[in-house]
Order: sequence, then structure tokens, then C-alpha cells
Amino acid sequence: MSSIIQLLPDHVANQIAAGEVVQRPASVVKELLENAVDANATDIKLIIKDAGKSLVQVIDNGKGMNVTDARLCFERHATSKIRHAEDLFTLHTKGFRGEALASIAAIAHVEMKTRQPQEELGTQIVIEGSKFVSQETAVLPQGTSFAVKNLFFNIPARRNFLKSDTVEYRHIIDEFQRVALAHSNIHFTFYHNGSEMFNLPVSTLRQRVVNVFSGKTNEKLVPVHEETEIVTIEGFVSKPEFAKKNRGEQFFFVNDRFIKSGYLHHAVMAAYDGILKDGAQPSYFLYLTVPPNSIDINIHPTKTEIKFDDESALYAILRASIKHSLGQFNVAPVLDFDRDSNLDTPYHYKDLAGAVPTIQVDSTFNPFSDDKVNKHYAGSGSSGSLYKKPAATASWESLYVGLEQEPEFPASAEISFESEEVTASLFNDEEVEHAVQNVYQIHKKYIVSPIKSGMVIVDQQRAHQRVLYEQFLTNMTVHQASSQQLLFPLNLYFSSGEMELISELKLSLVNTGFVFEETNDDHVVISGIPVNVTESEVSILLEQLLSDLQDGIPENSFSQNDSIAKSMARSLAVKTGISLTVKEQENLVNGLFACKDPNVSPFQKPTFITMRVEDLDKKFAV
Ligand code: ADP
Ligand code: MG
Repeated sequence: MSSIIQLLPDHVANQIAAGEVVQRPASVVKELLENAVDANATDIKLIIKDAGKSLVQVIDNGKGMNVTDARLCFERHATSKIRHAEDLFTLHTKGFRGEALASIAAIAHVEMKTRQPQEELGTQIVIEGSKFVSQETAVLPQGTSFAVKNLFFNIPARRNFLKSDTVEYRHIIDEFQRVALAHSNIHFTFYHNGSEMFNLPVSTLRQRVVNVFSGKTNEKLVPVHEETEIVTIEGFVSKPEFAKKNRGEQFFFVNDRFIKSGYLHHAVMAAYDGILKDGAQPSYFLYLTVPPNSIDINIHPTKTEIKFDDESALYAILRASIKHSLGQFNVAPVLDFDRDSNLDTPYHYKDLAGAVPTIQVDSTFNPFSDDKVNKHYAGSGSSGSLYKKPAATASWESLYVGLEQEPEFPASAEISFESEEVTASLFNDEEVEHAVQNVYQIHKKYIVSPIKSGMVIVDQQRAHQRVLYEQFLTNMTVHQASSQQLLFPLNLYFSSGEMELISELKLSLVNTGFVFEETNDDHVVISGIPVNVTESEVSILLEQLLSDLQDGIPENSFSQNDSIAKSMARSLAVKTGISLTVKEQENLVNGLFACKDPNVSPFQKPTFITMRVEDLDKKFAV
């Protein structure tokens, strides 16, 4: 029988290998930026079009390649960075596999221009799907430019698999930021569809962090510094009161390479033990330098995970030095460099964590509905409670804008009207009239109430999410959101990625009642907020929203509204563990059954269960 095994042709092998190296445009960005860094460039430009789907170009002023290397660099396993396996243990470059360019050239149209500083002329090569199209000698600036066009042009399945531009762009920003944060000694610029997104001059580490994120970041940072035989640690962690809801700005670099490590993350969190609210996430930018032979970076093809020789020592050192920094920050401006054990356990921070606002919602407050329409929604007025009623002032009407034309507020009228029907049938009228208390909260989690057929048990958090969700959605879809004007506009700072999301969401946010006075590169000025949101909740609410939508904004406006309403309902809903007054419990139960779809939370979890008297009887019938 003839043998059946054949060696794959190079271009097929390259295409297969490309699957591992290049998942999306951001992978190309990462490989090209790292090559430019490895070429000792001091100025690197990243230019992308259509979130990298039509163009990713990196231009550097590094050492360039001679004509032979210019051709060789597209071969698989062609690298100038290691010669022997042992070289892996003294690695100081980003690349070493010699796979990236071969892979990229297999699945895109690539134009490369390169010139070495000592040469007068450079080389220009065009290669498409691993096939050399042309090679010329040309007058070129020093350094190298790679333009990668039409990624996955020859693998339609992969191309179709790419996510929306917003998502792909987000991934590119992530990769860009990782490289830019690791190399503050390099000038980076980044253009997307012709607009400059980042311009990061050579600077100190601190300035680089601030330039990458936003001007506001500076005041959030506490420096960390530690030198031991095993590791040198530099960088910054955020002050506890600036902790975020999402894990956005958390970076470890080991020997100038961005890495992910759940274990080291845990060490950082341990240093914050007791000073952060549950679930809050600090930002950190930590640069570890270790001897190259004490790590193995070879365990993951895209190299964001590494293995350390002495992980547990690293853990302890990291935790202690961050604790120390946080402690010092707390006693600032007196900086005590002798380690004081008291500083290592800054328990008094516990109280500082109160910066995260407690949530107070008046989900029912609607100045334009009359009593009849709103009779189920009477606010209790007790402050700090679920339905806090804003203090009435003589001219409070003027604070609300946008409703003059349509004082009926038809949507909420419709909802409340339904409520009368539903509640009328659900609750036994007699009982409602005579009972002193008709609702009971148990375990600060459920509200139990007798109904005709037996009893209903309502999950307070999910029920409130449903109520808020429908309110927001109604506001947004009928474009009738009422806004409360802020006396002093709020300035909120965001990273450029977040700003991008906000500008895409702006219209929907305006429909919920937000009024944006300005949107700049790194911050927004908000002069009006939805009526059922308090000022202190705004930043948490937007942060939650950005974190919920990090994987992409839905394409159509309906699902965009839906996502925003869900996220805001999640942020603002009363949580399990909060005591509610009887009035609040009643309002919540009534509000729930006034909803169009009271059975489930916006996240499709049941909001209540019922138990019939017969069910109870059965249980007692033993
Ligand atoms: P690796 O980076 O793992 O060596 P690559 O496929 O990314 O593999 O690159 C192959 C080789 O091409 C590199 O080792 C380097 O010698 C050369 N090279 C790539 N990009 C550049 C650049 N921007 N400037 C100079 N040389 C480069
Ligand atoms: Mg490389």
C-alpha cells in the first residue's frame, strides 16, 4: 500500500500556524508593536482603519533590516532573537518564536518597507497570502513600516468570525496600552480612521500611566517600590477610594512584558484586605523585574502567562510592599521609610471605604403624575430608605426639564393602570382593607405577603430590578425621560476606550435623562441626571454600564436601550441584605405587579413564587 502521509506545503502550514498567533486584528497590533520595540525604536506609530479589519500599520524608527533579512523575516521560525534553546533563559526581547510575520503574511496583504540607519537605500516587499508579489530597492526613512491589509482575506470563515468594530477596536486599545505602559521611554502615537487617539511622549512611568488613562488618574496613584534579591517592584496602585467596579485597569509587567497572573492578582487583593468594599477592584500598574532565568515565558503561545521559580516568595513580597505603600499613603505627608508594623495593617482604612455611595433610589418619583395615577407609588420619605423622596422646594418643577409638552406621561399611566387590575385580582380586598400589616420582610431578602389563594414570596432585589428596568425602558423608548438639573455639573473622567463607548451610547443615555454639557477626550460634563438617580450614584452607574458593555455595544438601538436599562436597574436596585420599611415593601410589591412582565427579573430570574393554601395544607397533613 502506498504511504499516505505528506508534508504540508509551507503556505498551508503557515495558515494553520496563523490560527494560533493571529486571532484578530489586535493580535497583529501586538506582534508588530513588539517587533518595533525589539528593534530598539524610540518612536512608534500605530495606524489602523476600521478597527484593524482593513489596515494595521506600524511604523518604527528602529534598526531596520538588510535586504536578506527583509526577505527572510517572513519565513517560519525565522528569528534574529535566539539561536539556541538556552537563549530562552536569558531572553530580553518580546519575540523569539519567529512565527509572527510568517503567520501574518499567510492571511493578509502585507507591505513592508525597511532601511537600516547605515544604508542609503532600503527594501520594499509586498507579500500576499504567503506569496511574494514584489521586491524593490527604494529611498526610505530609517526603520521599518509594516502595513497589514485585509486580514483573513483568504479565510472568509475567520473574517466573518470577527466581532463588531467596537469590540475589535477595544481589543486593539488593550494591546496598545499594554505595550505603551511597558515602555515609557518610547514615543507612541496611535491613529484610528485618521484621528489621533493617543500621543504618548517619552516620559516617566507615572506620566505614561496618566497619559494613557486620563489626567484624573494622577491623584489616584500611590507609588510602590521594593528591591529584593528575587525581584524589584516598581509602579503604582490606586488609592482605595478610587476602586472600581470592574477589573479594567490592572496591569502586571514582568521584565517589561505584560502578563496575566491570577496568583499575583490575589497578592494585590490581599494587600487591600479590609480596605475595599466587597467586589471593588483597585487599579494597579506593577512592574516586576526578575532574573530572566527565574521565569519560563514559554508556556503559552501568546505569552501572557509565565511561570516563576519562586512564586510564593514573590507573592509575599508583592503583598507586603503594596501594604506598605498604602500605609505610607495614609500617613502622608509624613513619609516613614522604616517599616513600621502598624503601617502594615491599616485597619482604620475600613471606614474610608465608605466613599462608595450607598444606593438610595426614588424609583417612583414622578412630579408630573397626579395622585390617582400614582397611588401605588407613594414614597415613604424616610431618608436612606428604598424610596427616598427628594426634598420639596417651592420651585422644584423648574428642576425638571423636557416634559412640559406632555404632562400626561402616558407610559407610566399605562403601567399604573394595569397595576390596579392586577393587584385588585391578586390581593384579597378584604384582607387589604383590614390588615394592619400586609407584607413582611424575611432575612432582609424576601417579602412575604398574603394573597387570595395563599401567599406570595417576592425576591426584593430581583423585583426592584424589574421595576426599575421597565421604568428606564419606558423612559427611553417613549423619549420622555425627565431630568433633574444639577446645580454644579459633574465632571467625570474616563479612559479613551471608555469615552469611545460613552459617545456611542450618548443618545440612549440622553433618553434615560442624562444631559451632557460636554464630551471631551477624557471626560464628560454632566449637567442633568435621570430623576430616579442620585448624584452620588452617577459615577458608579456609568462604570457598571461600561463594564457591562465592554464586550460590545449591541448594534440596534432597541437592544442598546435594553442593555442600558438592564445595567442601570442592576446598579440601582435595592440589594439583598437591606431592611425595608413596611411602606417600602408595599411599594415594591405593588410596583412589581404593576410591571408588564412581573414574573422574571430583567436577567430572566424568577422574581416571586406563590404558595397556595392547599400546598400548605398538604405540608401539614402528615
Ligand atoms: P520574532 O519576533 O519572534 O523573532 P517575527 O516573525 O515577529 O519573529 O519577526 C521575525 C524577525 O524579523 C525578527 O526576529 C527580526 O529580526 C525581524 N523584524 C521583524 N520586525 C522588525 C522590525 N520592525 N524592525 C527590524 N527587524 C524586524
Ligand atoms: Mg515578533
